[in-house]
Amino acid sequence: MDFTLHELFADIGIEGQKKLCEKTVTLVGIGGIGSSVAEILARAGVNLRIIDKGRILEKDIMKQCLYRLEDISKFKAKQSKKILEEINSQLKVKTFHEDLHAGNIFLIESDLVVDLTNNMATSDLVNKYCLEKKIPLIFSNYAGSKGHVLIVDRSQYSGVGPCVNCIREKLEFKDKSKLGVYVPVTYLLASLVASAVIKNLLNYGNVAKLLNVDVMKTDIRHESVEKDKKCSVCSVL
Ligand SMILES: [Zn+2]
Repeated sequence: MDFTLHELFADIGIEGQKKLCEKTVTLVGIGGIGSSVAEILARAGVNLRIIDKGRILEKDIMKQCLYRLEDISKFKAKQSKKILEEINSQLKVKTFHEDLHAGNIFLIESDLVVDLTNNMATSDLVNKYCLEKKIPLIFSNYAGSKGHVLIVDRSQYSGVGPCVNCIREKLEFKDKSKLGVYVPVTYLLASLVASAVIKNLLNYGNVAKLLNVDVMKTDIRHESVEKDKKCSVCSVL
């Protein structure tokens, strides 16, 4: 893989690109945001662990860039590995067709975890494990034309930033299944998530922040978020 464009980009350079190729990121969920994040990271040389038990449905084709009509009913994780290795043959991709639970949460262990599960019970497990193991975590979800990206990086571990549980009311969408999806939101969020991953792996931007987007309004805002001192997860660690 020729990484000349990143190597010429001053904020990455030859050393930065070498570092990216040595890193491994876990994607929990490879659907709407996850498939685009995986593609961007594969092209950037970042190795991947992909955890997703799901199979490809016809409605997924509308917003999940790694899949085609002929892939319907195949396992998402297996199919994404095939496509990602075709894009970058030097890439190391490990896949797990499993739902995460307390007994296998160790599978997420890597340099950084991206939580795209769309399931708060699983997100709670991921959040707690990342806090305990001090693994940077990026969380994203969406509904309609709106979405969030929460970056929980190393600032959290010095007690400064919030965890997912501290601000969970800001992250959840009520009646999500009735809101549909405006497809461009998944691509915008994927781009923001992938950039946050790369910057974190290169130690840029170590400030916990929440991004709120509304694509229909062409609106992206940073929101300052703080640790909840009474949080049942991070305040007791
Ligand atoms: Zn917390």
